[in-house]
Amino acid sequence: MSDLNTAYLGFGSNLGNRLAFLRGGRDTLVNKAGVELVQASGVYETEAIGGPPDNPSFLNTVLKIQTSLDPHQLLKSCQMVEDEFGRSRPVRWAPRTLDIDILIYNDQVICEEPLTIPHPRLQERAFVLAPLLEIAPNLKHPLLDQTITELAAACAGVKELVLLRTTW
Ligand code: AMP
Repeated sequence: MSDLNTAYLGFGSNLGNRLAFLRGGRDTLVNKAGVELVQASGVYETEAIGGPPDNPSFLNTVLKIQTSLDPHQLLKSCQMVEDEFGRSRPVRWAPRTLDIDILIYNDQVICEEPLTIPHPRLQERAFVLAPLLEIAPNLKHPLLDQTITELAAACAGVKELVLLRTTW
């Protein structure tokens, strides 16, 4: 693979067989041309934020990948994988079988429709920062100029997140 770029992807699932969706999403994405898995964090369990009161809890994980895809091509591939796993988008915050976010792509900053990188809520989300902390503690957020360790220290709830599985 030429022109390798490094990206971090956040995966979440809170519907059905959540671990199977994370595994299926990972394997399907990595089997696509131009995506190579470098490292996966463990799987964490998190209460759903927002949505209906009985919204099931999420399983979350982060993948580090190398890719020859540009950010827009990568977003398309992630959305194809989401669609393959039957994610429907009836209302915001609805339970989802598989959600994939591009968190970081090299040190690029992109702010345009339909893509914002780094992911605009990365620094607020314990379920993103805890798995990122595990695999990339020294990674610098290209806009905030802080490491993941620094961002995680400032984010409530990172330490309370439940690590469900180290390997999956
Ligand atoms: P969501 O329903 O939260 O998965 O949002 C999906 C929408 O967010 C899609 O239409 C994407 O175009 C847009 N989007 C913007 N930035 C990103 C990103 N960094 N990763 C994934 N989706 C993004």
